Amino acid sequence: MLSGTDSPRSVEHTQLASLMEAAGDVVFRLSSEGEILYASKRTIEMMDPGRSLAETRLTSLVPPADRLAIELALKQAIESQQPSRVNVRMNTHNAILWFELQATAYVNASGAVELLAVGRDISGQHATEERLRHMATHDVLTGLPNRSLLSDRLGMAVAQARRTGKGFSVVALDLDGFKKVNDALGHPVGDTLLRIAGERLQDILRDVDTLARVGGDEFVAILPGAVEESEIQIVARRMIATMQLPFEIQGHALYVSTSIGAATYPQHGESEVKLLAHADSAMYRAKETGKARCVIYNDQKFTAPEHDVSLEAAMFDAVRNGEFLLHYQPIVDARTRQIMGFEALMRWMRPELGMVPPIQFIPMAENNGLISLLGAWALKAACVQVRRFEEAAGRELYVSVNVSPRQFRNDQFLDVMDDALTLSGLRGHQLSLEITEGILMSDPEHAEALLTAISARDVRIAIDDFGTGYSSLAYLKRFPIATLKIDRAFIKDLPESVKDGAICNVVLSLARHLQLSTIAEGVENERQLEYLATQGCGLIQGFHTGRPLLPEAAMKLLKERAAPPLSIEPHLTKSIR
Ligand code: C2E
Ligand code: MG
Ligand code: MG
Repeated sequence: MLSGTDSPRSVEHTQLASLMEAAGDVVFRLSSEGEILYASKRTIEMMDPGRSLAETRLTSLVPPADRLAIELALKQAIESQQPSRVNVRMNTHNAILWFELQATAYVNASGAVELLAVGRDISGQHATEERLRHMATHDVLTGLPNRSLLSDRLGMAVAQARRTGKGFSVVALDLDGFKKVNDALGHPVGDTLLRIAGERLQDILRDVDTLARVGGDEFVAILPGAVEESEIQIVARRMIATMQLPFEIQGHALYVSTSIGAATYPQHGESEVKLLAHADSAMYRAKETGKARCVIYNDQKFTAPEHDVSLEAAMFDAVRNGEFLLHYQPIVDARTRQIMGFEALMRWMRPELGMVPPIQFIPMAENNGLISLLGAWALKAACVQVRRFEEAAGRELYVSVNVSPRQFRNDQFLDVMDDALTLSGLRGHQLSLEITEGILMSDPEHAEALLTAISARDVRIAIDDFGTGYSSLAYLKRFPIATLKIDRAFIKDLPESVKDGAICNVVLSLARHLQLSTIAEGVENERQLEYLATQGCGLIQGFHTGRPLLPEAAMKLLKERAAPPLSIEPHLTKSIR
């Protein structure tokens, strides 16, 4: 054994040897070349009780990946004449452990430079750090990478693809029917299903692929090298097949399926944000067109005919540059004309190019997936702003925010809404969400669950552009709706148009019987206002009572109209044609 073969040649070495037995977990005396001259008994027991360490280099006890680090540390200790420290793994006889090794150079009795390397076993601490790192980057439920690690990996995939010229694909999956399982059988069963789903997906992917869980029942996979449509479809078919097998949980055989969307670098996007958004769009398309299928993103199919490619490209930069803002249009009491609240309307102000109307960019944002981000921002910003209006006005106001179909389907919607309320301090009943009839009809089960959760927080639901969508009235009974916004199309020819008058009256009467409040949209003149007020429409919104305004202008208007006008009764008593 080494301790026996190397009898200390001087008093210094004898003293050193006994000191070494008492020091750290592993202790080596090394030549300046890193050869082991002496190892403490404890070290030998730990490393390999049956083997001599004589003439072994310290680096041979270390896994190849850590060898350079050790060599550098020894070199530095000799050159700087200061202790040098390094964390490395060492192959002990029954495990690979982490050591913090401190090397100190000295001159021995014969004048030669030697090194003393003392190591402390830090495997426990290292394991804790690793666990913490793992927790921050992985989903607790499935153990898969989370959104943050996915984002790192996507960044790396983009960098690597740029370097090597080899593309990759991003695949977004969402389980169909998961919500039903969760609602019917509870979260523990839902959680188990998600865990098994994660395992099944992981099983069919290669080692080089990354699978992440990015929220709720949504997963994303990065597939390096898979760029052909046929390759992606093969993987997708396997994913769909494995998800269609029954999930046996707590005696139930549960069935779900999965809708998949894919986008490929560089054809469908060269940035992480674009690829994710496009894969997501394609996934929604898969859901809308029958579920349990894979749709690959396609620029032509996914964009409106009037689509302007450069506008879309600019939109991604605009989000980063903060070019979006909100205007606030007053909603007034039809009788007193007092401002009761505001509708927040989004604007895109392009530097030097001017304003892009929402009619143009909202559908685009719906398509490319940016709407979730923009919508979440609008919701929070509007709540915070209206709280400021309220403070300035010294009375309660409410805010109405448009919610797009895509946003409404997003799993994080409730969290975003809760954040907006908490952040602003507004109370639930002061927020109204404007949705269209189409949202309710496309996935009534999801809509019912979400609307119930929303109204449990006292937040009100308004049907925007009422009368222009589906003509089914059944949903007014089924869903907790608070407000109908009568579309401008029925207002603009009032009071002359007999037909529009009849439609408005029917809507107002329906609302009265169902105890819903009503807002007339697009009121442009006094005659329209008078007519609507007399027919019992509670609230008015339109250029006549206030255009959409920047926050400062809206604030000014609020102050000017602080006191309600003295006499409004004459308007209301006029006879109506
Ligand atoms: P909307 O929710 O029905 O909003 C009312 C639209 O009517 C606004 O158009 C408003 O400026 C306009 N308007 C108001 N009063 C009058 C009037 O007296 N006469 C006329 N001719 N028009 C009037 P805008 O701001 O161009 O918005 C268009 C649509 O874009 C909105 O229709 C809404 O569907 C969508 N939108 C706007 N902001 C957002 C948003 O933050 N999120 C989502 N998802 N959609 C939004
Ligand atoms: Mg609206
Ligand atoms: Mg509207």
